[in-house]
Amino acid sequence: MKYRILIRPIAAGETGKAEAFIKAAADSAQSRTTLRRMGQTGCVLGAHQGGRLVGLAALDPRARRMLGPWLAPRAPAKIARQKLVTAVERLAVEFGLGMLTAENHASLRQPLQELGYVATGSSGLSRSIVRRTTRYGRQIRALNTELGIPADYAAKHWLRLHPEATKLVSIGKDIYERSQRMTPSAASAWKQMVKAALADGVEVQPVSAFRSVEYQAGIVRRKLERGQSVEEILRVSAAPGYSEHHSGRAIDVTTPGAEVLEESFEETAAFEWLCANAANHGFSLSFPKRNLHGIAYEPWHWAWLP
Ligand SMILES: [Zn+2]
Repeated sequence: MKYRILIRPIAAGETGKAEAFIKAAADSAQSRTTLRRMGQTGCVLGAHQGGRLVGLAALDPRARRMLGPWLAPRAPAKIARQKLVTAVERLAVEFGLGMLTAENHASLRQPLQELGYVATGSSGLSRSIVRRTTRYGRQIRALNTELGIPADYAAKHWLRLHPEATKLVSIGKDIYERSQRMTPSAASAWKQMVKAALADGVEVQPVSAFRSVEYQAGIVRRKLERGQSVEEILRVSAAPGYSEHHSGRAIDVTTPGAEVLEESFEETAAFEWLCANAANHGFSLSFPKRNLHGIAYEPWHWAWLP
């Protein structure tokens, strides 16, 4: 029986399975607590072989730290470990990190050193991952430095780079008569959702869908010119490169009679309908109240996830 090892984020419904695995494999209670906290961030990666969870590793972007990898007793250790480490490093690059540290446990030391990690005092192992940065990552970094956005912005807020969507289709006009676009899959899910809402007597209207990096940079520049501080701006607008709107999967919505892009949208029948039904169409709220990102509550911002 030979199965390939596939690495993918642990889905929300699998956290129990991951916890059981960690309990058996992880050596520190601290790692378990951290992993539980990271639950649904997409930062916990699992190695799967023939549908079986054979390894686990995670990234804590704020601490610039890799947790694990932990492996099941009969896992093909070398391949699983290498694949997990590579995947965590790739994720770290998406968070704008240039350096990654790892735990210096006796069981991990040698394998991680073989993968390029070097001991940094007694505290841990580390590796520079700057060279893994993509061209897009470098462009965004340069742009954001120019705008005065702090270098630790993405890691601090658990925000990943969103590449600009390359394939976009029209979803029609928004409430301001501007043409709006999303990726083909997100667009068809959106259209179905709007139709389903209408059938229930609820009107959900588009305000803004795809936005380019340049457009987002323009928003930030205009706010800076009006005298707002970078901190104020970043509380309500994502930095260029990190807006979900670049992906073509996110959309800001409103409904007749509502104040556009105001928190009071949560009192509308449209919001109530979305909370009950959007998930059936693959859409979820990206910035709920008290979200992990420390971003203002946005009841109007919904994203389609494949
Ligand atoms: Zn939005």
